[in-house]
Amino acid sequence: MIPSAFDYEAPTTVEEAVALLAGAGDREVKVLAGGQSFLPVLRMRLASPDLIVDLGRVAGLSGVREDGDAIVIGAMTTHDEITRNPLVREHAALLAEAARTVADPQVRHRGTFGGSLAHADPAGDMPAAALALDASMVIAGPGGRRTVAAKEFFTDLFTTAVGHGELLAEIRVPKHTGWGAHYEKLSRTAQSWSIVAVAATVRSSGGTIAEAKVALTNMGLVPLRAASVEAALAGKPATAEAVSAAAASAAEGTAPMADSNGDEAYRRHLAVVLTRRAVLAAAG
Ligand SMILES: Cc1cc2nc3c(=O)[nH]c(=O)nc-3n(C[C@H](O)[C@H](O)[C@H](O)COP(=O)(O)OP(=O)(O)OC[C@H]3O[C@@H](n4cnc5c(N)ncnc54)[C@H](O)[C@@H]3O)c2cc1C
Repeated sequence: MIPSAFDYEAPTTVEEAVALLAGAGDREVKVLAGGQSFLPVLRMRLASPDLIVDLGRVAGLSGVREDGDAIVIGAMTTHDEITRNPLVREHAALLAEAARTVADPQVRHRGTFGGSLAHADPAGDMPAAALALDASMVIAGPGGRRTVAAKEFFTDLFTTAVGHGELLAEIRVPKHTGWGAHYEKLSRTAQSWSIVAVAATVRSSGGTIAEAKVALTNMGLVPLRAASVEAALAGKPATAEAVSAAAASAAEGTAPMADSNGDEAYRRHLAVVLTRRAVLAAAG
C-alpha cells in the first residue's frame, strides 16, 4: 500500500530536529530512524503522520565513545555497528550479543539502537539488554536534555518516556568490563522475533558468581528484570545445579501475553529454561 501524503524534513542538527518536532503544533509528527519498524507501519497506513522528521542526516547521533565509567552510544548507531564496535564488545558485551540476534544483516545495517528502544516492541531484543546493563537514555527536547533510567524509560506497550517534541539522542551504558554476557533467544525461525529471550551478564570470580544481571524479553508489555534470580545467584558457584535452582523463579512477577507462538504457561516455562542457559553461558 502507498503511505498517505506527508511533509518531509531532514534536519542536520539535534536542535533543528527538536524545533521541528516541538513546532508541529496540532499536526501529527513522527521521527524516522532506520525505518525498519516505522516504514511497514506507514505503508500499512497504521500511522498517517502529517510530518516526518528524518534523523539520518543529523550530525553526532551515531557512534560510540567513552565517557569515564560509561560508554555513550548515539541513538542512530546501527545494530550492525553495535555487534562490531570494540568499545561495546569490551565494556557492554551483552549489547553486542543481543544485537547479533536481531533479524538479518539487511535489517541490522539499517535498524538503529535508538529506534529499537524508542519503538519499545515487547519482542524487541535491545530493550532487555539495555535494561540488564542499567543503561540510561538521554532525551533531547525544547528545554534541553534529560536522562531517564532504563527501568523508567519503557512505560507501556510501544510507549516510552520520550514525550511530544522530544527525541532519543544517546544511550549511556555503565561499563561492565570483564563481565561475561549472553543473550538467549527462542524464535520460531532463524532471524525472526523473540517468543521469549533472556539477557544475562555475570561478574564471576574464581568460579563463583559475584553479581548477575538478568532481564527478560516478551514476558510482559515492557522488558523486565528478573530480580529474584539475580538475588539468588549472588555468591553462588557457577554450576549447572546452582544456576538451575536460581533460574526456577525467572517467571516470578511477569505477565506474558498469549499469541499464536505460545500461551502464558509456555512462555513462563521458557523464561526458566532460557534463564538457566543464558546465565550458564554468561558465567562461562
Ligand atoms: C524483517 C524484520 C525483522 C525484524 N526482526 C527483529 C528482531 O528479531 N528483533 C528486534 O529487536 N527487532 C527486529 N526488527 C526491528 C528492527 O530491530 C528495527 O531496527 C527497530 O525496531 C527500529 O529501529 P529503526 O532504526 O528501524 O527505527 P524506525 O523504524 O525508523 O522507528 C521506529 C519507531 O521509533 C521511533 N524512533 C526511532 N528513532 C527515534 C529516536 N531517536 N527518538 C525518538 N523516536 C524514535 C520512530 O518514530 C518510530 O515510531 C525487525 C525488523 C524487520 C523489518
